[in-house]
Amino acid sequence: MTSGTLSIGFVSLGCAKNLVDSQVMAGTLLAENLRLAPSPEEADIILINTCAFIEDARAEAAEAILRACRHKAAGGCRAVIVAGCLPQRYRDRIATTFPDVDAFVGVDELDRIGVIARQVAAGQRGIVAIGTGAPQRLFRPPQPALRFSGGPFAYLKVAEGCNHACAFCAIPGIRGRYRSRRVDELLAEARTLLDSGARELNLISQDTTSYGQDLRADKIAAPSDLPALLRALDSLAGEFWIRVLYGYPARVTDELLDVMASSRHVCAYLDLPIQHSHPEMLRAMRRADSIRAVAELPRRLRRSVPGITLRTTCLVGFPGETDAHFQHLLDYVEAAQFDHLGVFAFSPEEGTAAFGKADVPPAEIAAERRDRLLQLQRRVVDTRRRTLQGTLMQALLLAGPEKMTGGSRPQAAAWLARLPRQAPDVDGVTHVRGVLPGMRAGQFLPVRLVGGKGYDLAAEVTDPLRGQAATPAASRRG
Ligand code: SF4
Repeated sequence: MTSGTLSIGFVSLGCAKNLVDSQVMAGTLLAENLRLAPSPEEADIILINTCAFIEDARAEAAEAILRACRHKAAGGCRAVIVAGCLPQRYRDRIATTFPDVDAFVGVDELDRIGVIARQVAAGQRGIVAIGTGAPQRLFRPPQPALRFSGGPFAYLKVAEGCNHACAFCAIPGIRGRYRSRRVDELLAEARTLLDSGARELNLISQDTTSYGQDLRADKIAAPSDLPALLRALDSLAGEFWIRVLYGYPARVTDELLDVMASSRHVCAYLDLPIQHSHPEMLRAMRRADSIRAVAELPRRLRRSVPGITLRTTCLVGFPGETDAHFQHLLDYVEAAQFDHLGVFAFSPEEGTAAFGKADVPPAEIAAERRDRLLQLQRRVVDTRRRTLQGTLMQALLLAGPEKMTGGSRPQAAAWLARLPRQAPDVDGVTHVRGVLPGMRAGQFLPVRLVGGKGYDLAAEVTDPLRGQAATPAASRRG
């Protein structure tokens, strides 16, 4: 705890979209002359920004909340605030579930955080600042730009909410209808992020490929769709990458692929959760509109954007999934050869169409299917890593140098870096050797891939004296 200006320490759980909300709250606190503590343990107030997507996320949030409350009871801080998806989703019972928490803040009330922090510091308790209707607001991150990403990269949240109604997903109920931020506002934010040292802008939302659909309906400054946004961002000066995360397969247009193939800064990378490949499963999941897109997805995307990196996510153990459905998914994944793939086992979520369905495969079957799919993907990744050997790419230096150990003797120091084919947090990293002293995180270097292990890659700098223009699509054999 501190004396003087009130300090707030963040625990930001969940996805990158939540991290952006934490940045919004942090910026609001700073603008209102409050202080950010270096760690939650050193703060006057602990603020936990929660995720409530599935059971595992709720368990993680509950553990963090109880830990913070114990810290408060031991005199370690003055108050605990819980924000984000968990209080938003469980508005009616959150205060009784966690009686030692001093304030709850919903996803539409992020800008009230300064007032609420002062109220709890003054001893007020039992504050529930959560709107009763569906969330509707869009928050503009603070200026100057704050980055909690922990490296020379940033997340640009282009929209909030979701208009799909996937049968397993609670997010539309928590976050409300899809609403896009304006291109000019996003451009201004991108500029400040680049000025602050970000060299990779990751475009995120619940469905980034739907960006702008509501702007068109509202007749706001056209054209405002994802290709238009990418073109506008691509025109910014400087060396940087742009990456599109969290797309919806049926929303990938030829125009989007054209922009991706021809732009200077946009990585040839798409993250498109397919969830399943079998048409019956997609129909049951209420994603029938993506049946055709999923079937043609890998071939179409690789034909339109040569060398594109594809990430996807699958859901196994959904109600009604038979061995035959699952085998269809295995065959599909084997043929598709995704570069990166994540798997979730079905979690029945209150308030969703799939909740309470009778024909849910037993948990151990779902876990076994998840493991089988991940094993298959591991083989795909091993093969792809071998075929990538010798490829020339550019790397974005993240941190370093680190000491790598090979056998008993430490080897040459390696930097942590990322390639255009690696998104933050989920796709592994690249260990780069041969970086000259004096290089800094945020610089680009030409590298040759020489191997790696598991999901991580190893590379050597090909020209240590030269930084390289950030044209992420470029890769060739050498
Ligand atoms: S697209 Fe489907 S899975 Fe993704 S946030 Fe929307 S409803 Fe949920």
